[in-house]
Amino acid sequence: MCIANQKGGVGKTTTAVNLAAALAAGGLGVLVIDLDPQGNASTALGVDHSEGTPSSYNLLLWEQNFQELAQQSPTNPNLYCIPATIDLAGAEIELVSMFSRERRLAEVLVPEDLRALGIDYVFVDCPPSLGLLTLNAMVAAKEILVPIQCEYYALEGVTQLLRNVELVTEALNKSLAVSTVMLTMYDARTNLSHQVAEEVRQHFGSKVLRNVIPRNIKISEAPSYNQTILDYDPGSKGALAYIDAAKEINERFIAEFGALVAANSKH
Ligand code: ADP
Ligand code: MG
Repeated sequence: MCIANQKGGVGKTTTAVNLAAALAAGGLGVLVIDLDPQGNASTALGVDHSEGTPSSYNLLLWEQNFQELAQQSPTNPNLYCIPATIDLAGAEIELVSMFSRERRLAEVLVPEDLRALGIDYVFVDCPPSLGLLTLNAMVAAKEILVPIQCEYYALEGVTQLLRNVELVTEALNKSLAVSTVMLTMYDARTNLSHQVAEEVRQHFGSKVLRNVIPRNIKISEAPSYNQTILDYDPGSKGALAYIDAAKEINERFIAEFGALVAANSKH
């Protein structure tokens, strides 16, 4: 699942790491691929991403495979992360002249190999742009999750994102769809949040998750301790919201693709 929205600060990274942690806590195998050169997902998951660490850059260059690059979370053995290092900042340009430049990620994420490692879900945290890194994520993914912040201009850029998804679906990846829209930083006390939620639900209908993620200070504090919200404050409103959203996503997945994941989660 590709977490994309070319707008920055809407909750992509927060959603990628906390959904991943919640699914992993429920017994599923989850791999987070950090494709943002800033490496915020790697930081939040507490994995090493200092310069020179084997990373998603090496994955895109086909220098190492995901089995070698995935670092296990220090707190959850079901959770893995392929970190992003600063090398990735140049990748967007380096990729331009490379063979199969849009399929670098898709080619190496072989579903059978992922299953063999016990991975049920892969989340790709995208940078805030629609460049080659995001394109690689879209070509490799089955589904796109679009986080939308309950703030002014919430839908700004979304039309452009959807147009890009359409182009990718037509030309590069027929199985791709925007499956999930998630409302983030929802503040129940403000009219603005209600209005944005209403507008987004009208626009996207059943793609929008029932569970919204509230604005919660604990969520924003957790990354500075290299922790997900599930480790930092498992009883917080933020943690509970991500756990509920993860359950909803997994239920939808089972309804759509069958009991594969449910069966797998038993052991
Ligand atoms: P993106 O990856 O889209 O740029 P982030 O996930 O990094 O966005 O979130 C942007 C900022 O908002 C971060 O500082 C993050 O900690 C904060 N944030 C995200 N979600 C919430 C939330 N539900 N409540 C409070 N702060 C949040
Ligand atoms: Mg981010």
